[in-house]
Amino acid sequence: MSYEPKRADFSVPVRINLYSDTQTKPSPGMKQAMMEAEVGDEQTGSDPTVWELCDRTAALLGKEAAMFMPSGTMCNQVAVATHCRRGDEILAHEKAHIQAAEAGGPGAISGVLIRGLPGERGIFTADTLRAAIRTPSRYAPPQTLLEVEQTANNGGGACWQVAELKAVADIAHAHGMRVHMDGSRLLNAAVKLGVPASEIVADIDTVWLDFTKGLGAPLGAVLAGPAAFIGEAWRWKQRLGGSMRQGGMNAAACIYALQHNIDRLADDHANAAALARGMAQIPGITVETPETNLVFFDTTGTGLTAAEFAARLRPEGVSVSVSDVYRGRTCTHLDVDAAQIEEAVAIMRRVVG
Ligand SMILES: *Cc1c(COP(=O)(O)O)cnc(C)c1O
Repeated sequence: MSYEPKRADFSVPVRINLYSDTQTKPSPGMKQAMMEAEVGDEQTGSDPTVWELCDRTAALLGKEAAMFMPSGTMCNQVAVATHCRRGDEILAHEKAHIQAAEAGGPGAISGVLIRGLPGERGIFTADTLRAAIRTPSRYAPPQTLLEVEQTANNGGGACWQVAELKAVADIAHAHGMRVHMDGSRLLNAAVKLGVPASEIVADIDTVWLDFTKGLGAPLGAVLAGPAAFIGEAWRWKQRLGGSMRQGGMNAAACIYALQHNIDRLADDHANAAALARGMAQIPGITVETPETNLVFFDTTGTGLTAAEFAARLRPEGVSVSVSDVYRGRTCTHLDVDAAQIEEAVAIMRRVVG
């Protein structure tokens, strides 16, 4: 079995990329910022631009300290490794990214178990969490970490409300657990809810932002939390090969994203709503009403699988992603505009007809 990604068909350009907000290209302004970045050696603490990114992100999230990482996946793995010991149990939604899409990292790297909690749209209730708390005993795995995902990717980009987060965090803390947020799309939630990110994560111990999603940077994520936690986490960053050198070039792109690409996430949410309305009118397609920039749909009524639907769109220059036999995902971001959304819907209507 080869796990290498299939080489893309470069002969048919993607004109309207609804596959993922990870596929945005750095804008001219962002590239300019990268070229002009002052750099040093990140892993010896001498890259001023990486420090600036960490300081800005820590301030944005209201946390003491932060560290720059190559990816969100590494933020999750380093956080789990730092928070937990072998044999510990993490509580997370059963469809969370950390559970389903990180190659078993928590088990392979940290030797921890994940207990998956059910819940609508990627969000579980305080009651569900309470029911999963074990009475400490010599038999039970120690439950040391609660993990929440904001927004919930597989939940259709749904947002945890601040009160819902506080409720589950309070329960976790009362049982001696720490709370970690996969904040891959936290800023989408902040824009959608109209609440500062720092307020959303006020009850969360550690949290990271992905700069390669809606923020549009080519590489990087930043993990934030208490200074003592970040201090310890650095050994795991080093151990996993996540320490960088002239990281400032990438950090400059992330700083540019913080300065230019947060407020505009509202456009992505408006485009997602328009896309959902348009797709819902295509015979045979049903759509999960989006909250942010992710639009999941079901192709059952068209007689096509999601993969067949995607395959018919691709030669037309439209790219969408497939999540299950009949379930697919479209995603809006800074490289698709309202006119392209309209065009994509027209193409979809044609290919299922
Ligand atoms: C993309 C994503 C990740 C992983 O981030 P990478 O930067 O791709 O490693 C983790 N969690 C969620 C919810 C994501 O959407």
